[in-house]
Amino acid sequence: MSIPYYRMRDHYYRMIGSKCEKCSAQYFPPVNICRRCKNTRLESVEMPRDGSILGYTLQKESVAGFEEQEPMVFGLIQLSNGVRVVAQIVDMPYESLKIGTKVTAVFRRVKADGSSGQIFYGYKFGPVRSGISKATTD
Ligand SMILES: [Zn+2]
Repeated sequence: MSIPYYRMRDHYYRMIGSKCEKCSAQYFPPVNICRRCKNTRLESVEMPRDGSILGYTLQKESVAGFEEQEPMVFGLIQLSNGVRVVAQIVDMPYESLKIGTKVTAVFRRVKADGSSGQIFYGYKFGPVRSGISKATTD
């Protein structure tokens, strides 16, 4: 396993962002300086998994290594705490999407490293289902 990926795994599996201790602004990915008040004291916080779609787009051709996932749908997601995230949308046909569609974070395979066989996982967004969303290995 590569060291950078190992060190960053919490950011991929749990969506850890940061929260300003002074003005409570939240960020994802985490930042070291609050953009609102310039405070440098921020704590780590886990982002909520639920959100809604603010915008979306269909990418018919992808960069090398992602051909098997074509076409890919990407969306601008507003999490329930107001933080915005750009992420892949999965398990939802492009034609079914609308501005405001509710989604939830799911953890999925992002890509496999051909030389090491290591599989990288990360967050994507999918349909809201009853019960707890769980990571899958597909
Ligand atoms: Zn602040």
